[in-house]
Amino acid sequence: MDGSGRRRFRANVRISGDRIARIGRFAPGPDERVLRASGLVLAPGFIDLHNHSDRGLEAEPTAISQIAQGITTIALGLDGSSPWPIADYLQRRRERPAAVNILLFVGHATVRQLVMGRETNRPASERELTEMERLVEQGMREGAFGLSTGLEYDVGYWSTTEEIIALARVAARHGGLYVSHIRDEGNRMLEALEEALRIGREANVPVHISHIKLATASVWGKAREVVARIERARQAGIDVTADAYPYEAWASTITVLVPSRRHDDPAAVAQGLEDVGGADRILITTCPARPEYEGKTLREIARERGMTPVQVYMEIVREGGAGVVCRSMQEADLRVLYRQPWVMVASDGGIGMRHPRGAGAFPRVLARYVREQRLLTLEEAIRKMTGLPAARLGLKDRGLIREGFAADLVLFDPRRVQDRSTFREPHLRPVGIEYVFVNGRLVWERGRPTGEHPGRILTPLERPIGKREKPSER
Ligand SMILES: [Zn+2]
Repeated sequence: MDGSGRRRFRANVRISGDRIARIGRFAPGPDERVLRASGLVLAPGFIDLHNHSDRGLEAEPTAISQIAQGITTIALGLDGSSPWPIADYLQRRRERPAAVNILLFVGHATVRQLVMGRETNRPASERELTEMERLVEQGMREGAFGLSTGLEYDVGYWSTTEEIIALARVAARHGGLYVSHIRDEGNRMLEALEEALRIGREANVPVHISHIKLATASVWGKAREVVARIERARQAGIDVTADAYPYEAWASTITVLVPSRRHDDPAAVAQGLEDVGGADRILITTCPARPEYEGKTLREIARERGMTPVQVYMEIVREGGAGVVCRSMQEADLRVLYRQPWVMVASDGGIGMRHPRGAGAFPRVLARYVREQRLLTLEEAIRKMTGLPAARLGLKDRGLIREGFAADLVLFDPRRVQDRSTFREPHLRPVGIEYVFVNGRLVWERGRPTGEHPGRILTPLERPIGKREKPSER
């Protein structure tokens, strides 16, 4: 399956060096190693447009949980938060390569903090905005693929739409993409979507909605409305796409449960908990001040401590916060979204992620939405993981099986592929991903990492003004 969505076909594929050298019917040369892949599907390596392995790669460049899913390229610096300076991070990765290819976005919150220090809970001044524009410019010149925002999080939350438009214009000048965790994924999701579309229109920038979702009870069932709105925007000339991960629960910081930020107001907190369907849908995954809470729901903790869930919430936030997993989405909405040809698969996961998507997102789509539910054909699912994200990023020699393209490839068993990670055991590895090649070298072989680190740093080729050209590697 070549990643374009066209029907599968039978062929031999020759890898020579780091490239796909030949596709078709031919005999292997006398010295060539031959992998007999009968019963398996060969696809381009999966490209994860939303990954949080920024720090994880420093500690574990083999990225076992990622290559075990068939991922060969990961985009970092998402949700508004990126390493800085971009050039330094890329240089460190170049000196100590990973098993996977990486690419970066400039984080809006990152540059906002650099300019505003700890005083980010207000709109930026003219002078501060000018300075942020300069930093986005620097990040783009250093090799970023665009600007990312996390407008639901504390630092980004206080920015005006005008601020984002100004910064997205800078990214657009360099052929970059605007990638956004939009301001609200719950009650006010449609308004937040409107803001993203306005940014696309006014900054003349292609827009990509990260982990698109309808994450409170009041918007459940509105996926069709969201799709209709995006379709209208596309017809009006705004270049919009999205990605989604295949789970009904999100993982984030506990404070996003109260979008008004009134964490001391019992009524606002009670409303926030009700909006996601109640305290038993909220699982604490990390809690530095009280590690004994980890693995328990807010309801369970409240019962044990003889407090209300609202009181527990307020105490946790006062003491420094927590990471949570919250089961507040509906599969019916996800199914509608995945049916759209402009919605791709991305994990929002990464190394060490305490959400099953960190170890299972890609195999889960192949198992649940292709084999079990027959929501997508295998060819279409593969396109959403390969050719589509490659096109979105402007990667001209990855994401498809084509002669001359980089030999990023995955061989998997479509009858057996299965995610196994769960909310209680988020690190369990999938089965059925048999071999993974990155730049022509095997990184995953029959259920084991080979220890090779052939991953490269991907950067868009710079032009002073105008559209992105052929990307290069350096
Ligand atoms: Zn996010």
